[in-house]
Amino acid sequence: MPELPEVETIVNGLHVEFKDKKLEKIELSDPTLLRNVSEEELRERLAGKRLERVTRRGKYIVLEFSGVNFVAIHLRMSGRLLSLDPGDRADHERISFYFADHDRKITMDNTRRLGTLDLLGSLEEEPLDSLGLEPFADEYNWENFNEIFSTTRPVKVLLLDQDRITGLGNIYVSEILFRAGLDPTTPGEEVSQEDRKSLFKLIPRVLTEAINNKGTTLNDYQDSSGKRGNFQDFLRVYGKEGDPCPNCGSEIVRIEQGGRSTFLCPSCQNWDDD
Ligand SMILES: [Zn+2]
Repeated sequence: MPELPEVETIVNGLHVEFKDKKLEKIELSDPTLLRNVSEEELRERLAGKRLERVTRRGKYIVLEFSGVNFVAIHLRMSGRLLSLDPGDRADHERISFYFADHDRKITMDNTRRLGTLDLLGSLEEEPLDSLGLEPFADEYNWENFNEIFSTTRPVKVLLLDQDRITGLGNIYVSEILFRAGLDPTTPGEEVSQEDRKSLFKLIPRVLTEAINNKGTTLNDYQDSSGKRGNFQDFLRVYGKEGDPCPNCGSEIVRIEQGGRSTFLCPSCQNWDDD
């Protein structure tokens, strides 16, 4: 699933290419994509509107059209938002936005059809409203960050909880906890002040490194121009079960937490399986 760095990379690409373009038509191949809006209302509200900005909130891509219309797209598993030649068709096309006097279209390609689209009148509406702390926003300060640990759930699980902190997924949480040298099973409220401070610094740092490398491609992630990311070359533990830890040489292990895989170094992260 695309996480914050992958979504940010897609958003940056689309913004540069489509900013200020006027919408010409929408081709909707799969209306089940629409969550809070009918096809008729979507077409009516966006008709002739200009795409003012492409932004991100958590893992949502937000197309900001003139007249205060926000299209919030979540790609979920294996989804892509591509810039294509208007004559081309993606294999699992669900919606395409065509623009006047522009030889590119924005197409959602979504093999597993799990992605969603919401049309909002502001960024303070659901599903964006309930999202937690945004790692690159002004609200990301020590006081707010310290509050997300008020839970007995394991720190790995709480960092995946989009209502507490948004944008992180399975890959980056494993990498961040490894770099912090922290046991992923530690209950949130038992994470020491020192470890919280180190996570506070590491989260934006690791995400920035990943954005600078255009995200991580392990399976099918591509940016809006169809290019793969490079950050998979810099992963230290994720997907590396059985490999030697880059710090200490111990064998990296995989455990399950909340039905998801966590990769860790038992020695660097003081973990034992009892
Ligand atoms: Zn190690």
